[in-house]
Order: sequence, then C-alpha cells, then structure tokens
Amino acid sequence: MTDFRRRIPRTDTALADPRLTAAAIHLGRAAVKAVIVEAQDRARRGEITPEEVISSAAASLPPAGMRQVINATGVIVHTNLGRAPLSADAVTAVTEAAGYTDVELDLHTGRRARRGRTAMAALAAAVPEAEAVHVVNNGAAALALAATALAAGREIVVSRGELVEIGDGFRLPDLLVSTGARLREVGTTNRTSITDYVDAIGPETGFVLKVHPSNFVVSGFTSAVPVNDLAGLGAPVIVDIGSGLLTPHPALPDEPDAASALAAGATLVTASGDKLLGGPQAGLLLGDADLVERLRRHPLARALRVDKLTLAALEATLHSQDVPVRRALDADPDTLHARADALAEALRSDGIDAVTTETDAVVGGGGAPGRTLPSWAVSLPEEYAARLRLGDPAVLGRLERGRLLLDLRCVPAARDPELRAACTS
Ligand SMILES: *Cc1c(COP(=O)(O)O)cnc(C)c1O
Repeated sequence: MTDFRRRIPRTDTALADPRLTAAAIHLGRAAVKAVIVEAQDRARRGEITPEEVISSAAASLPPAGMRQVINATGVIVHTNLGRAPLSADAVTAVTEAAGYTDVELDLHTGRRARRGRTAMAALAAAVPEAEAVHVVNNGAAALALAATALAAGREIVVSRGELVEIGDGFRLPDLLVSTGARLREVGTTNRTSITDYVDAIGPETGFVLKVHPSNFVVSGFTSAVPVNDLAGLGAPVIVDIGSGLLTPHPALPDEPDAASALAAGATLVTASGDKLLGGPQAGLLLGDADLVERLRRHPLARALRVDKLTLAALEATLHSQDVPVRRALDADPDTLHARADALAEALRSDGIDAVTTETDAVVGGGGAPGRTLPSWAVSLPEEYAARLRLGDPAVLGRLERGRLLLDLRCVPAARDPELRAACTS
C-alpha cells in the first residue's frame, strides 16, 4: 500500500467522528457508511487528500430531519414554520406518551376505555359551553367529517363572502364538495343578509355553515349575519372559527372564539389546535352532544383519528400556564423594547450595524387578519438574512426596506443570547 492510501481513514474511524455519528442517528448507519465509502474512493482516485475524507463525507451528507428555527419574523403562527411551537409541558407530555400508555385502557378495571378521555375532559372543561367534544386530525378534517356526516348528498348553506382559500391552493369550498355535499351559496362577496339564508334553507339543507374569513378582511360596504340570528332558522349551525381561541382574547377583539359562538347558539364549532390555542395540529369539534356523538361514531372518524402524541400534547397545552403562542400574544411591548435595545447594543459592541426599530407583529396563519400587535426588532444589514437562515439553529427574520428585522415578539427572552451568537459566528 502506498503511504497516502494508508492515510485514508478506515470506515470505523470515520464513523466515530462526531458529525458522522450524529448524522447516523437521523440517516441510519448504512447511509452514512455509503457516503464515507464514496469519499474514500475519491481519495483513492486522488480527487481529495486522505485528510479531507471525513470533512468531505460530512459535507456530502443528504439533509435529514427538520432543522430548529428561531422565529424572529414577528408572525406568531407561521405556517411555514410549523404553526404553534409546543409548550415545555406539552413536550414533556409527548415524551411520556411516546411509549406504551393507557390511551385506550382503564387501568382500574383492566378494560378498554374511551380513547384519549383525559384530553377530552380537559377540552370539555376549557369550554363549558360545549355539551360534548371530539378531536380529529386538523381543522379541515373536522369540517370534512361534519360535511360528510350531515350533508353528503344534501346542501350546505354558506355565504359567498366566506368561501375561503386556506393556503397552498386548498379551498374550503372544494373540501366541502369533495365529501359529496352541495354548496348552496348565499349573498354576495361583501354582503349577506338573514333573508338570504332564510330563502335558501329547506328540506335539502344539511346545515348552515359560518366560516371565519381568517386570513383576509373585507371592509367598506359589508354585512354579515351573526351566529345568534342564524341559530333561530331551524337548521344546525356549524361555525368554523378557524384559529382555536376557546374564549375571547382582549388583544384580538374581532377574532371569534368557541365559547361565544356556542353561547350565541352554534350547534357545533370547529377549530384548529395549532393556531391560537398554541397546541399540536388537531381539529376540535365542540358542541351539541347528539351531534358530536354522531360524528364520533361515523366511519370516517376512524380515518381522521388523532395519535396518542397529539392527545398528550393537547391535554398538556390546555393545562399549561406557559404556552408560547399565548406568551407571544401577551408580550409587553415595553419589555420587547428593552430586550431589543440590549441586543442591539451588544451587537454594536461586536462591531455590527444594529439598531432598535419599532415594528408590527401579526398573528398570521389564519387568525386575526388585519390586526397588528406593537412590537420591537433589531434591524441589521440585509446580508445577515442568508447567514442567519443557514445557521444552527436557523434564525428567520423578515426583510423590510433593505434591512433584516429580528422581531422579538415570538422569541423567548432566554434565546436572545442565541440571536447574538448567530450574528457573530
Ligand atoms: C386554518 C383554517 C382551517 C383549516 O384548519 P387546519 O387545521 O389547517 O386543517 C379551516 N378554516 C379556517 C377558517 C381556518 O382558518
């Protein structure tokens, strides 16, 4: 063997490198081994030096796993960032539920029990206005289940102003029609009156649907019919509130909540678990006991059933006093200002052109459209954007007028030092 061949690290030696050991956890040993063998071959062909084998193998690893991101966009529920970050309590609950659990077993009797009963009890307790509750995979699944069970082959009466596209090309009207229901559109884009609904309701009506236009606002010459007026028309009223506020929030006066919709007479409310509720992806069904039971027993319900991890995270979210989405929503602007000042000053002492800027944060992700939350950011030269995005953890800010803004509303204060480190590394 020539000397340089002898210097090529053996596969076992390469696998012991921390970068490659870590990669083997995500990618599997065989895949990492293949990458090492390839780098060894390149060294034998003289394309790289033997000393470069490990770093070359590490550099050519395929991406695996989701990268952790610090959300400095000022968008609290960011769809591309996985919507709601789970609370520490929810993370603990998920870890505990990861093994065998009593999700569908009563340990007292040793018999089968209702799946996820403690999570259902927590949800029911959080919305006493609901006679019964059920949880499915996401908000769209909740609507699909209701439409299938109540309106397949029949009509859903819905205002033209509420036929929304929820994102990535998915449109609620298409989803509803895919269940075999027909849409009976009433009113116009900007105005719908009670007589529009009265004229449309008849023997073919499965239910009246009211959808929260959660990602846009129509202003000017507009009118919509409130839930309490729809409740008296003789047909079930399903209200898709979207973002999952269970009770009103003072900072979001226009955002509908489950308790108020039920108190106003809604038969059923549907919502997402991972928007303003701040929990895992889930679809909440809240309301009339007979209706919820019918949905729960429908064959489709089995296909929309949630995982034990979701149930664990949802229950913990409902009990937690420290939910990140809530914290971001309730953050005090003066505190954000002080944090931004401190961070900007630290970065200036590192020689970086950083200044404090006042910003507007938003709920995002299908909630509180048109409403901004006063916030504060550190403004940096635009060149930092790509570098921070590619760091570990990745930091995502937002670009505004040629500057990169790191908005602190969604960044836990404990992570400010990581923002500084990301800028200086
Ligand atoms: C987000 C949203 C949905 C869809 O919920 P998912 O949990 O994303 O499936 C449906 N309706 C409204 C009004 C929404 O805002």
